[in-house]
Amino acid sequence: MKQRISAVLGEQPVGQKIVINGWIRTKRDTGGFSFLEVNDGSCLANLQVIADKSLSNYEEDISRISTGCSVTVEGIVKESPAKGQSVELHAESVVVVGWAEPETYPLQKKRHSFEFLREMSHLRPRTNALGAVARVRSRLSWAINQFFQERGFLQVHTPIITTSDCEGAGEMFQVNTSSEISGKADKEEFFGKKAGLTVSGQLQAEVYALALGNVYTFGPTFRAENSHTSRHLSEFWMIEPEMAFCDLQCNMQLATEMLKYVLNDALENCPEDMELFDKFIEKGLIAKLKNVVEKEFAHITYSDAVEKLLASDKKFEFPVKWGIDLQSEHERYLTEEVFKCPLIVTDYPATIKPFYMRVNDDGKTVAAMDILVPGIGEIVGGSQREERLEVLEKRMIEAGIETEEYSWYLDLRRYGSVPHSGYGLGFERLVLFVTGMANIREVIPFPRTPGFAPC
Ligand code: ATP
Ligand code: MN
Repeated sequence: MKQRISAVLGEQPVGQKIVINGWIRTKRDTGGFSFLEVNDGSCLANLQVIADKSLSNYEEDISRISTGCSVTVEGIVKESPAKGQSVELHAESVVVVGWAEPETYPLQKKRHSFEFLREMSHLRPRTNALGAVARVRSRLSWAINQFFQERGFLQVHTPIITTSDCEGAGEMFQVNTSSEISGKADKEEFFGKKAGLTVSGQLQAEVYALALGNVYTFGPTFRAENSHTSRHLSEFWMIEPEMAFCDLQCNMQLATEMLKYVLNDALENCPEDMELFDKFIEKGLIAKLKNVVEKEFAHITYSDAVEKLLASDKKFEFPVKWGIDLQSEHERYLTEEVFKCPLIVTDYPATIKPFYMRVNDDGKTVAAMDILVPGIGEIVGGSQREERLEVLEKRMIEAGIETEEYSWYLDLRRYGSVPHSGYGLGFERLVLFVTGMANIREVIPFPRTPGFAPC
């Protein structure tokens, strides 16, 4: 029976005949046997295959096997006398499905740097660390969907091509046909007006929230910003729940519950991969995440956060005063050194936040909330949305936005408006936090950053 290696190592079907497929990680020959370490991507561990010299294709094939070859092995599962593994496979047949030239195969046994591997997005998932990232990423995606579905949220697929050109979240990539050049009159454009790749599905998610109650989107977003940090990508995935009849408090509660839920899920369901990260990538990672799951998140208003920053002896590159947007160095100081746990910052100055955030009674701040985590800074950005037509219109005009272009958005306030809230969770920032990896380029299969998009 054909089996995945994770199932073989889990169920240990000693005495049974099985078939496995995979790629050779290493091979060594001793005393009339070849020991093949085979990995099929289903789990971190390899299955050790023992191939006897008496196998008919030993000289011709098995003796020539090298790292990177793909094989199909049929054999009997036996208890393993070797340390560190429970079972091994005694081969009755080994078929080489695809050869890998040993002189040129780039993934040799030694450890490669992540920078080196980045140049090889087509081969890097065959390494232990990147394979583990792919499994944890998949699990987190599943857990997020499960979290929302269990709570009755409906998933909405918001468009990737958008014509709302000032969503306030960042620079947009333009979408044109190959024969089109930008600068045309709007009506000559493919969509009859300028179009771009979405920077956020929020505005469209609001449409569905105001019809269906609780919804979420989980899709790719694009930002044409020239950022070269270890936290920014040009293409990244975002989870954006949007809830009708929900204020900032309820928004904060959902985001906190969601983060705790998905961290716990990864710890429970990816123990082997998490141990790898804990051992080789970030020492103490598992304890850190468990602590986040168990402890309450801290909460501070923007104004109090500014007071804390002003009172500290720390030298910041960007000077602090009320009204500035918090920089990554400020965010990280607060969450890593002051609170030492996830921190929710609320009520930012209206001047630094987009037009759709609800204006507070003080007239100066908005009902925004960012969640900051140690090691990363902002992981979630959200707010209660402005549901009052006149206030929203005034904010749009102040921001220089054509209200006519947004008549659909204003209609939501004209007809059956309700208090509503939502947030954006950057999926790769979450995967960074959970795996402890240092650079966001390692936690998305095919990273896109300015000047970089190899395959
Ligand atoms: P930052 O201040 O870190 O640049 P932002 O304020 O522009 O982020 P939002 O517009 O609030 O981000 O987007 C919501 C979430 O999306 C952020 O909290 C973050 O987790 C994630 N995010 C934003 N920009 C990027 C990016 N360029 N690459 C990866 N994730 C991102
Ligand atoms: Mn933000």
